[in-house]
Amino acid sequence: MRGIQILGAGECGLPLALRLRHSGIPVTLVTDRDAAAVLSGSVTSTQVKFGPTLDLESRAGLGIWRSIAPRILGIRFNLVVDRNVVSGWAGRFSEPAQSVDQRTVFARWLADFAAAGGDLEIAQLSVPQLDRRTAAYDLTVVTRASRELAVYFPADPSWSVPAEPMRRLAVLYLDGVEPDPDGLGTYTALPGHGEIISYPGLTGPPGQERRCEILLFEGLPGGGLDVFAHTVPAERLPRAVQLLQQYLPAALADRYRNAELTDGGATLVGAVPPTMREPIGTLPSGTLVLGGGDVVCRMDPGGAQGANSAAHCAAQYSAAILDNPTGPFDRAWMTSAAQPWLTAIAHAAARWTMAVLDPPPAVRELMLAAQEDTALADAFAETFIRPANMVKFAATETTPH
Ligand SMILES: Cc1cc2nc3c(=O)[nH]c(=O)nc-3n(C[C@H](O)[C@H](O)[C@H](O)COP(=O)(O)OP(=O)(O)OC[C@H]3O[C@@H](n4cnc5c(N)ncnc54)[C@H](O)[C@@H]3O)c2cc1C
Repeated sequence: MRGIQILGAGECGLPLALRLRHSGIPVTLVTDRDAAAVLSGSVTSTQVKFGPTLDLESRAGLGIWRSIAPRILGIRFNLVVDRNVVSGWAGRFSEPAQSVDQRTVFARWLADFAAAGGDLEIAQLSVPQLDRRTAAYDLTVVTRASRELAVYFPADPSWSVPAEPMRRLAVLYLDGVEPDPDGLGTYTALPGHGEIISYPGLTGPPGQERRCEILLFEGLPGGGLDVFAHTVPAERLPRAVQLLQQYLPAALADRYRNAELTDGGATLVGAVPPTMREPIGTLPSGTLVLGGGDVVCRMDPGGAQGANSAAHCAAQYSAAILDNPTGPFDRAWMTSAAQPWLTAIAHAAARWTMAVLDPPPAVRELMLAAQEDTALADAFAETFIRPANMVKFAATETTPH
């Protein structure tokens, strides 16, 4: 076997590479930065992972932080107007969720990949370079596509997604925040402005991890939370504290009164344009490559789905490769490898994300009804874990056309 080439060392590429190496498959992983650069860089996500994802990682020997990362037991949802809670509920997950800084995770997994005999190349390949290299491998999996490369993956015609990002984002990793008294993550919806989401996580270099609080502002474009564009990192904490005091109920805002950034790279500002692509790309030479993770299905983080979906993609692609190690990895094989992930995980996650960010009337009514009904609140929280469950209690208007 000539081996498998994987482009991008993130939530999809790294577990895929590690799973294959652990089964003795030759793997070349091409990514833009090494572990030291990952650790000295900025945060890249808020990456909450739910029980089934954590189980997948543990079973593959990748769940290094399961016993030390803080447990997120559910969601405290509040609808807040003028700093007053007008509706709220607390829903519990059937299994705790966890969030470990991607810098910590990717740095450790990169080291594990090298220790497992993987071939790591630090490079940013142009399309012609990638195209030429594919001949040396049985299969190339693309988990990171530059704008130039992305055009070789056709848009999925069965989906219509908003042309613009649904939210403007700001992330801060914080020390000194008082934990939620019940171990829940908080999700505060501010009509006309967006959402403020916060939960405990783990950060720090591998071996020196420590607890922190991860704060995510999901600002509706033009709303009161959309104030981070063009800021430099030093301006973000004061601006965040001011927003917490302006929009959150006093008791909740007070939890952040001693907040400090965890490190120089503890903030991120940006926006995620939703993207749905077909999973098979055709390079200029006609060579087919298999897309995974965000390359195929990229969603706003408000639904907390992308990292979970990418982890499932890695697990399913590695199983498909190990079931058929001699190939051929042709279009029919690629279709059969991708379809179960798309149907069971990625598309359901994308539908759920759109329903959370722009709730159709049925979902809005359920969110309000959950206040009076603990079982409904738990079911709502559980839908973040299993978005495919959404069809059980809500028909939405955001399904693919
Ligand atoms: C602010 C924010 C919060 C989020 N919160 C959550 C959440 O709570 N839960 C959740 O499930 N998802 C969340 N997500 C989404 C999640 O982080 C992504 O969906 C997930 O990381 C995608 O995995 P991936 O492997 O496709 O890409 P990535 O994890 O982004 O990995 C891609 C890799 O490619 C590398 N790379 C970059 N450029 C190149 C290049 N030119 N050549 C080669 N390699 C390159 C990068 O270094 C990176 O390691 C969030 C995203 C954001 C932006």
